[in-house]
Amino acid sequence: MSAKKVFIKTFGCQMNVYDSERILESLSSLGFEETSQISCADLVVLNTCNIREKAAEKVYSELGRIRRMCEDSAHRDQKKTVVVAGCVAQAESYEIINRASVVDIIVGPQSYHMLPEMIKDTERHGHKLIDVNFNHQQKFNTLPQRNTKNNRATAFLTVQEGCDKCCTFCVVPYTRGAEYSRPVEQILNEAIALISRGAFEITLLGQNVNAYRGKGPDGRMWSLSKLINTLSELDGIKRLRYTTSHPCDIDEELIECHNYNSKLMPHLHLPFQAGSNRILAAMNRKHTSEEYLRIVDSIRLTKADIALSTDIIVGFPGETVAEFDKTLRVVEEVGFAQAFSFKYSPRPGTPAAAIKNHISEAEKASRLNALQSLIKEQQLRFNISCINKTLPVLFDRHGRNSGQLLGRSPYLQPVHAIIPYKMLGQIVPVKIISAKTNSLFGILQGSQL
Ligand code: SF4
Repeated sequence: MSAKKVFIKTFGCQMNVYDSERILESLSSLGFEETSQISCADLVVLNTCNIREKAAEKVYSELGRIRRMCEDSAHRDQKKTVVVAGCVAQAESYEIINRASVVDIIVGPQSYHMLPEMIKDTERHGHKLIDVNFNHQQKFNTLPQRNTKNNRATAFLTVQEGCDKCCTFCVVPYTRGAEYSRPVEQILNEAIALISRGAFEITLLGQNVNAYRGKGPDGRMWSLSKLINTLSELDGIKRLRYTTSHPCDIDEELIECHNYNSKLMPHLHLPFQAGSNRILAAMNRKHTSEEYLRIVDSIRLTKADIALSTDIIVGFPGETVAEFDKTLRVVEEVGFAQAFSFKYSPRPGTPAAAIKNHISEAEKASRLNALQSLIKEQQLRFNISCINKTLPVLFDRHGRNSGQLLGRSPYLQPVHAIIPYKMLGQIVPVKIISAKTNSLFGILQGSQL
């Protein structure tokens, strides 16, 4: 009998990519194998994200497509079980079951370890099931060991989940729950399993990763820097990264770690969201733009070549043109290697959604345009500064053009190079010969050819 097939579609951030891998691993206990063809799947999982605008509507339109496909396959006697997982599942649980009859199971980001049992139950009794409980600890204790099938050089490892900061525009505290840090030993065991299947660059993930305070084997609470230093001593680890950080949780120890730990890559993603202190207070960010700039100074004093990236929202309710200008001033002062910028849009249920003083779409679009032009200039300037440098690049995938591999520099820039395919999954020295806004192009250096 052929194995049952599961198709999984992942929306959103790296944490969802991590969650999807873990979902697939837990489904292998039921004999499911992944397929990239939704039409052949017995089980369809949408692992959803609620961060962007109209997230729920996109999920409903995807479910409409799946319903039409299920109606077709039903004629061919192929019943598909349909699961909606992730943050939209958490936020809209009953609404989804009511609106989309094709859905069998709703499972939140803290409950997906229950999925194998729920699938068995649904298959046996035909029930529609919902589990949107918050139980980080039980989830991480229940999930199976990482399997050895994936042999990529890079891997994600969630060390922290949830958020206590409660920014007024953000759904994360409601969909991912309160901050939770996994115990150190559990993380070390998972890292060892990832290394044994071929990973040597690990990115530590958390909604607020630098708020990490996990119980160490010595019974004390460990900081992120202590965790990073311990992970970097594991045989086989060559590179470590972490994301996403909050300015209020950056401490001296972590800044220093960038200086002395050569396995920690010189890149920091540190969202600042807005330049006006009034808007930052309305966002409940708990820091001012002056404090943000002081942190940047302190990091650059310690690690001059660090690449900084950030997240910015334009057009928060009530933001004046003068306040938006303050955002541009912060960007000018910092000089980012990369930045993600968005027009504000209300998320149902968040405090900011109740604020009345909305900025028009046209004005938000024009502010975003101005901001993105500045960001592009800075990105290009940073990338051009790498020309003629030789960077150690980890090639982890094939490029778009034949003969090309695509990798990442220590600063997280995508680097294209025409190099032998045998160098896939290796860190090799690459001389950068040209730069665009979003990527670099290089040639192999030394005797590697
Ligand atoms: S710190 Fe980040 S995850 Fe937490 S509420 Fe603010 S934006 Fe959301």
